Amino acid sequence: MSENSEEAPKEEKRIEKAEKPEKRKKEEKGIYTLYKIENDKVIWLRPTCERCGPGYFMADHSDRYTCGHCGFTRYKPAEK
Ligand SMILES: [Zn+2]
Repeated sequence: MSENSEEAPKEEKRIEKAEKPEKRKKEEKGIYTLYKIENDKVIWLRPTCERCGPGYFMADHSDRYTCGHCGFTRYKPAEK
């Protein structure tokens, strides 16, 4: 067989710029993912911002919550 083990072809070293990365966040499920109803009680799955008041939900991070509205950060209580 031929000894052309790994010879990279020297052609078309052009990278297309018009590529659209389809990286859409899948967090747009609506408000129904923010709470659930148990025994006629609404249980919010996310905390609301203490500064902005109810209605402003804070983003859930691994160790903290942040408010996208005012930037308030609240660290989760260290458990475990
Ligand atoms: Zn806020």
